[in-house]
Amino acid sequence: MISFNEANQIISNEFKELQISQECVDLPNSVNRILSEDVYSDLNLPPFNNSAMDGYAIMYNEGIRSWKITGEISAGNFIEHSLDDYSAVTIMTGGKLPANCDTIIPVEFVLVNGDEVKLKDEVEIKKGQNIRKAGDDLAKGKLALPKDTFLKPHHIAAAASCGKVNLKVYGKLRIGVLATGDELVDIHETPQDDKIRCSNLYSLLSAIRDMNMQAINFGIVKDNKQLIRDRIKWAFESDLDIFLTTGGVSVGKFDYLKEIYEELGVDIKFWQVYVKPGKPALFGTYKNNDKTILVFGLPGNPVSCLVNFILFVKQNILRYFNNEDQNHVQAVLEDDLKKEDKKRHFMRGFLTYNEGAYYVKKVGSQSSGNIAQMAMSNCLIVVEEERFNPAKGELVKCIMI
Ligand code: AMP
Ligand code: MG
Repeated sequence: MISFNEANQIISNEFKELQISQECVDLPNSVNRILSEDVYSDLNLPPFNNSAMDGYAIMYNEGIRSWKITGEISAGNFIEHSLDDYSAVTIMTGGKLPANCDTIIPVEFVLVNGDEVKLKDEVEIKKGQNIRKAGDDLAKGKLALPKDTFLKPHHIAAAASCGKVNLKVYGKLRIGVLATGDELVDIHETPQDDKIRCSNLYSLLSAIRDMNMQAINFGIVKDNKQLIRDRIKWAFESDLDIFLTTGGVSVGKFDYLKEIYEELGVDIKFWQVYVKPGKPALFGTYKNNDKTILVFGLPGNPVSCLVNFILFVKQNILRYFNNEDQNHVQAVLEDDLKKEDKKRHFMRGFLTYNEGAYYVKKVGSQSSGNIAQMAMSNCLIVVEEERFNPAKGELVKCIMI
C-alpha cells in the first residue's frame, strides 16, 4: 500500500502522457476554460488621456479658483477646446482631455453659476488629479493574460479590451465514467429489496462538469466479468483521456475490476492507498495506439468515491493545467478529532469564518457509505499520517468542496 503523496506523485507523472488539444473559442464562451496562448494588448489601455470623473477640465494654475465654462466633452464625443488659465470645459468620465488640460475637478467640489464654475471654499485641488493617462492600465504590446490562466469574467474583460474576438484554449479532457454493482438501480427507479440507487455516477459526472471538462456516461453495469469487460473495451475505444470506474475494486469475491483491468492490458501503477476514506483506489494507464488513457478504479462507497475523485483526479487535473491547488484554508478545530492510525484522513467538516479566523467542526457520521451526511459538509478536514487525535483549538488544513 502506498501513501497519499506517493500516489499523487505517480498520477501526476502519468498526466504528462496526455495529449492535450487546443481549440479556438469565441470570447464569452471561453469563461472557465484554460488559456493556451499569451494575450497581448494591441493598443494602449486606455488608448488616450481621459477624465476619471464627471467634472471640469482645467489647466492648473495655483491660486486660481474660478473659471469660465467654454465647452463640453462627453465620453465618445470629443470636440477640441483650447484651455487657458481661466477657462474650463465640462467633461464626463471617459471623455478625452482637451489640449492643455492637466487636471479634472470633480463636479462635487464646485459651485456653478451660469457659465461660471468655482471651487467650494473648503476644497483644495492638486495638479494632475483625476486624469487617466494613455497606457496607464496596460501599455500597447504588453502581456495582458499569460498562457494557462483559468479564465474568469475579469480575464474575459481584459481580453475584450485587447480586441480578442476568440481565445485559444486547451481542449476539455474527455472523462468517461462507469458504475459497477449488482445492487445498483438508476435514479429514476425506486429500489426494491436489496437494491440501492446509483449515486456515484452522478457525483462523478457532475464533479467533471464542475471542472468544465467533458463527462461521458458509460452507465451502470452488473458485477459480471464479461459485461464489465465489454463495457470497458467500448470506453477504451471512445477517445477518452481519463476513464473512471466505481465499485468492484476492493477485496470482495465479486470485486472484478483489478483483474479485468489487468486482462485488458491496463498497466496498474498502484492499488490501495493509505488514506481514509478510499483505501481501495486503483490507478493505471492504458495505451491505445499512441494515445494514453489514465484509468482510475474508484471505490464504490459513495463518500470514498467522491473524496478520491477530489484528491486524485481533480487535484491532478488542476496541476496538469498549471493551476493552483484546490482552495484550502487553515482553520481552528472546534472539537477534538479521533484519529489513531497512520493513514491520511479526510474528514467531512463544516467551515465557518468569524472575525478574522476560520473555524471547523466535523459534521455527520464519518462512515464512507453515508453520502447524505457528506451533503451537510462544505470541506474536507485533512489529518496527516503522523498526526493523531488533533484537539480542539489546534489548526488543521481544510479543502473546500
Ligand atoms: P464496492 O466498492 O463495490 O465493494 O461497494 C462498496 C459499497 O458502495 C457497497 O455498499 C455498495 O453498495 C456501494 N456502492 C457501490 N457502487 C455504488 C454507486 N454507484 N452508488 C452508490 N453506492 C454504491
Ligand atoms: Mg460492488
